[in-house]
Amino acid sequence: MKKENITFIGAGIATAYALLRITQILTEQPINIPFRVRIIDKSPDFFAGIPYGDRSGKAVLLINALNNFLPPDERLLFVQWLDERKESLLDEFLEHGGEQAKIWVENNRPFIDSNNWNELYIPRFFFGRFIREKTVSELSRCENAGLIEMTYTNGEVLDVNKETNLFKVILKNEISIYSENIVLSIGSLPTRKIFKEELIIKGHGYLVLNDIYNKNLSFNIGLIKEFLRSRNGKATNVLVIGANASGLETLYSFVDHIDLNDKITSYTVLSSHGLMPDSDIDYEKERTLSQNL
Ligand SMILES: Cc1cc2nc3c(=O)[nH]c(=O)nc-3n(C[C@H](O)[C@H](O)[C@H](O)COP(=O)(O)OP(=O)(O)OC[C@H]3O[C@@H](n4cnc5c(N)ncnc54)[C@H](O)[C@@H]3O)c2cc1C
Repeated sequence: MKKENITFIGAGIATAYALLRITQILTEQPINIPFRVRIIDKSPDFFAGIPYGDRSGKAVLLINALNNFLPPDERLLFVQWLDERKESLLDEFLEHGGEQAKIWVENNRPFIDSNNWNELYIPRFFFGRFIREKTVSELSRCENAGLIEMTYTNGEVLDVNKETNLFKVILKNEISIYSENIVLSIGSLPTRKIFKEELIIKGHGYLVLNDIYNKNLSFNIGLIKEFLRSRNGKATNVLVIGANASGLETLYSFVDHIDLNDKITSYTVLSSHGLMPDSDIDYEKERTLSQNL
């Protein structure tokens, strides 16, 4: 029976940064045989997670300015990386974004040209591209040096059991994986479904999307556009349930696509706090966060 030394469940940025640390330790203190690492994610989009990878697409922005997002050392490396690729990244952003993307680039041009990114709320996929490239390159360096043996599994984990001195990871496709150590890094709790269990519910005069990242955000924006076309100009109201990052970027995507926004009669957001993120700016947090990270 093959067993892993360590298995990561979930391949978002928490896993990416943990792996970067592991590659650093293995390089400084090599062991005799390759360290066996398995990464499992239910999405094929490894190392960027929902926020910075393909599921949220290429048109959405960070919910904080860059200087409140990354600690100084990592920010410096990221900005160097960004400066070398900024024009092609901006082209991709404009290609996938709408009106708001054009406005963002126009307004921030002076900062971008002078490589002054710290105060900007940058497109999130820029960071996803950076962390993915960095993680893949470090892992392949260590694999080539015989320090690590990687296995990637695309599948959903249903359960983990302890069996004597091993963990048994049970996947939805009934395959089991055995590992000495487990790191659970699955990010946010699973989305709670409302009304029915299906992810997409089309009814007479309504459309319910139970997970805006099911497939990806732009796929769901496409479904909404199709629904609006079928309304033939009738009044259409939008209810967004939850007002954190995903609620915020759903609204942003509506506004970014003018053809969509023009057909909406009203927006209502339901949230337990009655506030969107950062609608009440915490100036003390803004001043101290980057020093305290
Ligand atoms: C839309 C959105 C926008 C955000 N924007 C920002 C921002 O601008 N700034 C900021 O600081 N923070 C932001 N966040 C917060 C964000 O959650 C964290 O910054 C960070 O991405 C968390 O990393 P993670 O690796 O813990 O989780 P994730 O990045 O969520 O990764 C978890 C991974 O686990 C996988 N997974 C989950 N369950 C299973 C399972 N059962 N089996 C197999 N795989 C599984 C998922 O597919 C996913 O790839 C945002 C979050 C969201 C959802």
